[in-house]
Amino acid sequence: MYRVLYCLTVEHDLRLVAVAALLCLVSTLGAVATARRAIDAPAGRRTAWLLVAGFVTGVGIWGTHFVSMLAYQAPVPVSYHTAGTIGSLALAVFVSTCGWTLVVRGANAYVTPIGGALVGAGVATMHFMGIDAMNVGADMQWDVGLVIAAIILGMQFAAGSAFVMTRYSSRFGLVASASLLALGVVSLHYIAMGALTLTPEVVVASSVAPLSEGSFNLLAITIALAVVLVVGIGLFAAGLDQHLGARRRAEMVRMRTLADATFEGIAVVDDGVMQDMNTRFCELLQLEREDLLDTPINKLIVDGELPARDASDETPAKCHLRRRDGTFLAVQVRRRVMVFDQSPADVFAFRDISAEEHVRARMTHLAHHDALTGLPNRLKFRESLEAAMQDAWAHDTMVALVCFDLDRFKEVNDVHGHAVGDELLKAVSERMLDALPSTAIAARLSGDEFAVVLPDVKNREDVVRIAQRVVNSVGSPLTIGSLHLKVSASGGVTLFPLDGEDVDRLMNQADLALYRAKGLGRNQVSDFDPKLGQMMQERRLLENDLALAIEDDLLDLAFQPQARIGDGRIVGYEALVRWNDDRRGAVPPSEFVQIAEDSGLILKMGGWVLRAACREAMNWPEGCRVAVNVSPAQFRQGNLVMSVQQALAASGLSPDRLEIEITEGVLIDDEERALNVLRALKDLGVGLAIDDFGTGYSSLSYLRAFPFDKIKIDRSFMTGLHLDREAQIIVQATIDLARELGIRVVVEGVEELEELRALGNQPDLVLQGYLLSRPLSRGQLAGFQTASADVRQSIVDCVAGSPIRTRNRA
Ligand code: C2E
Ligand code: MG
Ligand code: MG
Repeated sequence: MYRVLYCLTVEHDLRLVAVAALLCLVSTLGAVATARRAIDAPAGRRTAWLLVAGFVTGVGIWGTHFVSMLAYQAPVPVSYHTAGTIGSLALAVFVSTCGWTLVVRGANAYVTPIGGALVGAGVATMHFMGIDAMNVGADMQWDVGLVIAAIILGMQFAAGSAFVMTRYSSRFGLVASASLLALGVVSLHYIAMGALTLTPEVVVASSVAPLSEGSFNLLAITIALAVVLVVGIGLFAAGLDQHLGARRRAEMVRMRTLADATFEGIAVVDDGVMQDMNTRFCELLQLEREDLLDTPINKLIVDGELPARDASDETPAKCHLRRRDGTFLAVQVRRRVMVFDQSPADVFAFRDISAEEHVRARMTHLAHHDALTGLPNRLKFRESLEAAMQDAWAHDTMVALVCFDLDRFKEVNDVHGHAVGDELLKAVSERMLDALPSTAIAARLSGDEFAVVLPDVKNREDVVRIAQRVVNSVGSPLTIGSLHLKVSASGGVTLFPLDGEDVDRLMNQADLALYRAKGLGRNQVSDFDPKLGQMMQERRLLENDLALAIEDDLLDLAFQPQARIGDGRIVGYEALVRWNDDRRGAVPPSEFVQIAEDSGLILKMGGWVLRAACREAMNWPEGCRVAVNVSPAQFRQGNLVMSVQQALAASGLSPDRLEIEITEGVLIDDEERALNVLRALKDLGVGLAIDDFGTGYSSLSYLRAFPFDKIKIDRSFMTGLHLDREAQIIVQATIDLARELGIRVVVEGVEELEELRALGNQPDLVLQGYLLSRPLSRGQLAGFQTASADVRQSIVDCVAGSPIRTRNRA
């Protein structure tokens, strides 16, 4: 210790020592400041800062050493080998760079001090190499103990300096770290100098001229200034970079705050690797920022793709993100290119659309399923049937379509209410599913209508057996709340491709088979019969052609005369619609009137008949009436009264010359409504006749209940009346009752004089039948009055001249 103090105070020029000390402080400050930048700078600039730190440290401590050596007043003249001196500088730079690299890149509690110690070792190597480059005419003796102490102390201080520098980035931390390093440099240098003893040798002329004191000082100041310049530049650069770095960080913080404020997850991606992201993105993935940084973004994407670079903002892509818990999150992604950290990068914005997707999925489900039973609805069923048909086509197999319908479901609804009806439908759907094989697709098409697709079936018998199982299951007793119910179902079966290859056709065929099952007594399964299909086809064609005929005014009217039996006078005509189709010829009304009723065409047709009949009747003699048939469908429709009014008004026919014929069916449907319409017609002054009397249900009571003027006893009673005692009794009773009620009677379908004669002498009856005349065309009407005189006379004679002769059936 004494030796060291002696060396410092006696063997050194203290003014230059002061310069060296100052230089040392400045150099170590430069060294730690630049090394710190290497820690704080972005990864890309780290190496550059390490090189700067190594250079500043090397130059700084070399300068300190050299100025200190100039301060050393050796007992002999001293000069320096240039190569060795410059070599020591290079060595100082190299070892310091290595040391700082360890400190910065190692960045942990063990490696950092080792790196620092290496910097200290650099100082030591530089020192002893510098001494070695000294040219003195003296013998150098080293105190090994002091040398070791110098090296250890120097390395320890340097290690401490590195530790403080990495831990504390504040100014105070930097100054503390620089001071420690300076202490290391100073202690190493001066203890090492204390360890050196120079014993002058016999004077040998030196090859290098020793320096004078003035030169020493000048050299020391020059070197000090050069070092200060180098270190100063380093410090300035470090300060500037730190300032810019702080600004950039502040900018980053602002950017991140902004990015965090959005509801979208944002990720900055360079070359497929995530460089930065906002908090929302981390939340979406349930991951920390650190987990995501430097990770390829494609690792997160499942079930979809990121938008391409040239994709427009208007067309965002959809994909799923894999979350930490293994679930997938549906997102919408937009992509944009922007400059990030001075180079172009992709910015992806992810919007969580899982809620929307959920709603969409729910809506799709609702659009395709029945809300009550959860079964597929008609739309979905159709798709399933089409898919099954395509599959069967591809694999050469068969698909069965079975339609089920509950028998008398309406009654359950009417009697027990809709809540019970709903429960029943749910129970039925469950039973149905239980009875079906797992490959079957069952659907509720509407109300109590269900349908089933059975893929890959072998034969018809199997399908009928499965359908029968469903019918049996549905038909077994059922308890809903406190109610014990028993419903039954009927089923209709059709097969693809045997019965048809078109969805609509198959559905239609299954329906036809179902109707057949119902017609056969319900609670059973029926197979599709191709004859049913042909009939339906023909019926559809007929319906189309009839619609065209009505539209094109191709219908016509025939008129069948009605004459009073007592005097043969023609009292009126019944208007009967006629359709002469180009292809089919005359189509009987019994065929097309029903079709018109079923399809709703009857309204148009009926309106036309009314107008045409009234128009025609205007040509007839006064008092001659026209009878027009009105179907139940026309009757049900609210504007019958108005149509009648319009037909009368348009033709100018007096209302009492028009007679409306209705059948009993009209009355059964809705008595009250029927009564109202009949009264309204009556109020117009129009006559009312009940047609086909006797073929319906409780005919006689209607006579009392409704305001009829006329009854037309059905043809079925008149055919062979003279042979049928029973019919005679019924007919007579009806006539008697009608007479009592003041209602006139028309006997329809009288073909033979015998039939007429069987009625006896009842001159007030009106006759309509082939005996008098078949229905006549408009052209035939004019001459009919004259032409029929003989026939009418024979009718009168027949009734008046002969007593009632009744023959019992043989
Ligand atoms: P309807 O109203 O009972 O008409 C009488 C039907 O009996 C007519 O048949 C007529 O030709 C037939 N007929 C009359 N006398 C005899 C006879 O002595 N022997 C036989 N075998 N038949 C006789 P049409 O013209 O074929 O009409 C059948 C049914 O079509 C009508 O029965 C009526 O219910 C309906 N109909 C006819 N025209 C119309 C119409 O314009 N509107 C509506 N709604 N139905 C009509
Ligand atoms: Mg009629
Ligand atoms: Mg009739």
